[in-house]
Amino acid sequence: MISRAFVAAARDCRIAACDDFNGPAQEGAGLYQVMQYFDGPRRGERCSAAAAYLFPALGRSNLTVMTRAVARRVLFEQGRASGLELRHAGRIRRINAAREVIVAGGAFGSPHLLMLSGVGPGEHLARHGIPVVCDLPGVGANLQDHVDYTISYRSLRRDVIGLNPRGLARLGKAARRWRRDGRGLFATPYAEAGAFLRSEPGIDRPDLQMHFVVGIVDRHMRRPHVHDGYSCHVCLLRPASRGCVTLADARPATPPLIDPGFLSDPRDLDALRGAARIAETVLAAPSLAPWRGARLYPHDGSDAGLDADIRARADTIYHPAGTCRMGADGDAMAVVDARARVRGVEGLRVIDAAIMPRLIGGNTTAPVIMMAEKLAAGIVGQAGPA
Ligand SMILES: Cc1cc2nc3c(=O)[nH]c(=O)nc-3n(C[C@H](O)[C@H](O)[C@H](O)COP(=O)(O)OP(=O)(O)OC[C@H]3O[C@@H](n4cnc5c(N)ncnc54)[C@H](O)[C@@H]3O)c2cc1C
Repeated sequence: MISRAFVAAARDCRIAACDDFNGPAQEGAGLYQVMQYFDGPRRGERCSAAAAYLFPALGRSNLTVMTRAVARRVLFEQGRASGLELRHAGRIRRINAAREVIVAGGAFGSPHLLMLSGVGPGEHLARHGIPVVCDLPGVGANLQDHVDYTISYRSLRRDVIGLNPRGLARLGKAARRWRRDGRGLFATPYAEAGAFLRSEPGIDRPDLQMHFVVGIVDRHMRRPHVHDGYSCHVCLLRPASRGCVTLADARPATPPLIDPGFLSDPRDLDALRGAARIAETVLAAPSLAPWRGARLYPHDGSDAGLDADIRARADTIYHPAGTCRMGADGDAMAVVDARARVRGVEGLRVIDAAIMPRLIGGNTTAPVIMMAEKLAAGIVGQAGPA
């Protein structure tokens, strides 16, 4: 109910409704489409990529799934990826590749694995004592993410999520309903509603996105609040700042260093301030009045006050990409070609969010799945039916 009130609040602020963000026009406020089973025994459950693609193929004789296995490096023989070294059940194992190795470790994991394997910025690898197989300066560079600012309110009404005795009792009731028919508060994707907006009328497509959440989100839920509440994220879809992923050391078990570079380009702070002002206006609109309690992290209303809060709390909305970016021949920072093949070596691909040259202007799961489907179809076509 509150998510529909958010759409109405946007309308109060002259933001048109959009009933299909994936339709011809993305702009406007509306309810999100979600990857959830809408009928059958799993009705109401979120559907992961594994559930949709992997589980139905588990019976195939040419598929082995090893869980809790951590890839340590790609092995090379004369410039060709020949297999993988991994840790599994406390043992280091080597697996040979009959055709090629496809890395899908995500925007942080893929550049990390490539660098551990000797594929990356030569000087950086040498500094960590890793023999250079291929000097590719683009590995780990070009990290992009939708930098995000969250505004939360306590709710006067109880039809939202709250981590207090009454809220937990409501959730318990909602869980019983969810088990019965897969519906109700327990089936929520949390970010039920949102909006795509243009920061200025002159630009050709939306550059801001809102996610409206039916609970208080503070530091990615790491800081729990006992109050019933709601939150609105607003993020930059085309940030100018760039970050990077680098090695902390040459040990595969050491996580990479991640510098998101948020707000390192001053244009992003200006843009996020403008975005936050729009979100504040929507959240103050009459349609949300029945829910509106006190704001968390209020500021003094000045630009300086808002900037200070943005600097203190702006963070990721979980869409890192671009650290093994696709690019044309002659592009020194390109890591993979148009078929996701790693440049400068044979038999190695990266297929995940890392290969996006520029971050997509929306949520990233569906585009990553789309890229994977298309590239997989190309591989199967090339190698014959699998
Ligand atoms: C909290 C959160 C909420 C999100 N919500 C949404 C949403 O609502 N909508 C949306 O569209 N997107 C959402 N996203 C973004 C979306 O999940 C990612 O964009 C998408 O999963 C990226 O796919 P990927 O294949 O590139 O990487 P991932 O899905 O991250 O897959 C990479 C996998 O590789 C594994 N891995 C990495 N290194 C190694 C290694 N060395 N050995 C073995 N395994 C390794 C990782 O553990 C991981 O399982 C969310 C992300 C997060 C974190």
